[in-house]
Amino acid sequence: MTTPHPPDAHPPGAHLPETPSAARRTVALIVPLYNEEALTDILVGEIEAFRRTRPEIQEILLIDDGSRDATFRQLMGRTEGLDGYTLVRFSRNFGHQLAVSAGLDLATADAAVIMDADLQDPLEVAGQMIDKWKEGYDVVYGIRRERGGMSFMERWTARVFYRVFRRLSGVDAPLDAGDFRLVSRRVMDAWIGLTEQQPYVRGLIAWLGFNQTGIEYDRPARVAGTSKYPWVKRLNLALDGLASFSAQPLRLAVRLGLVISAGSIAGLVWVLITKYVLGTAITGWASLIFVGFFFGGLQLFFLGVVGSYLARVYDEVKDRPRYVVQDVHRSRGSEQNPGQAVGPEK
Ligand code: UDP
Ligand code: MG
Repeated sequence: MTTPHPPDAHPPGAHLPETPSAARRTVALIVPLYNEEALTDILVGEIEAFRRTRPEIQEILLIDDGSRDATFRQLMGRTEGLDGYTLVRFSRNFGHQLAVSAGLDLATADAAVIMDADLQDPLEVAGQMIDKWKEGYDVVYGIRRERGGMSFMERWTARVFYRVFRRLSGVDAPLDAGDFRLVSRRVMDAWIGLTEQQPYVRGLIAWLGFNQTGIEYDRPARVAGTSKYPWVKRLNLALDGLASFSAQPLRLAVRLGLVISAGSIAGLVWVLITKYVLGTAITGWASLIFVGFFFGGLQLFFLGVVGSYLARVYDEVKDRPRYVVQDVHRSRGSEQNPGQAVGPEK
């Protein structure tokens, strides 16, 4: 049953103002690149071919995340004379999530599609996302059905992670979706207010809400070069995601601590009974050393958990810029906004 509202009594935020930016005409592509010299030509070639079929794509933000190879130089050469390209170079490697964040900060189009440089996020799926957006959705994410070029173990850990994340964070995050997604202008406007130092992009966009939908697709293997996400970076991303969305690990430490102390009191009672009531000696004290190690390890582990939350607080308090832009280069036809030495940090 619906309750009738007088027209001026809706809850705050229930109706966003219709701004001119609610137009659904132009689309930006946001592509982070790190040491991708092997595929700059293929990437720009594919984007150009795709633009011929989708004229909505008017802005292409290529964010070079501090590559040490020829990526930026090659991009400059390849995009010369082409319309709509903005090349941003970070002063060093700040990480994929911050490269994507910079793209979201800088995009001026009515919507933006975040995609990987290695074309693992196929452009034809981006086209379907644009169609969905025109139907009225604000976020259209890609759901990975098949994952090309990933081992069984990687696939499995990714599946488990998305499920754990959803459970612990309480955020209605889509399962098996990476950062490949379209976001509307109002999502990008809301994004500006999220000033976290280590943004977990897919989680934050899910957290923002709006009308979200997904498109299933098979993820092919990367077109050229090798993965820039070694397992350490992948693990860090997963831990960042969890720590920024959930305090559950801290609560887990408290609960586990309580269970263990209750257990040790029970153990003590048992020891006293065997000694003074039953009169039997307890053998196997050597095994105690392992118990000692076990609890020592557990304590260190949770001290680490607490420490990692503290480190996040420390990072936020320092309030440094999230990334530093070294160069902005706009190709012909995209010079509405003059370049700046340091991009919007927040
Ligand atoms: N990337 C980045 N900064 C990094 C690592 C990766 O901008 O520090 C980019 C990379 O160039 C690619 C995207 O992030 O466009 C995804 O990386 P990759 O394809 O290596 O990850 P995978 O598909 O193996 O998970
Ligand atoms: Mg990839």
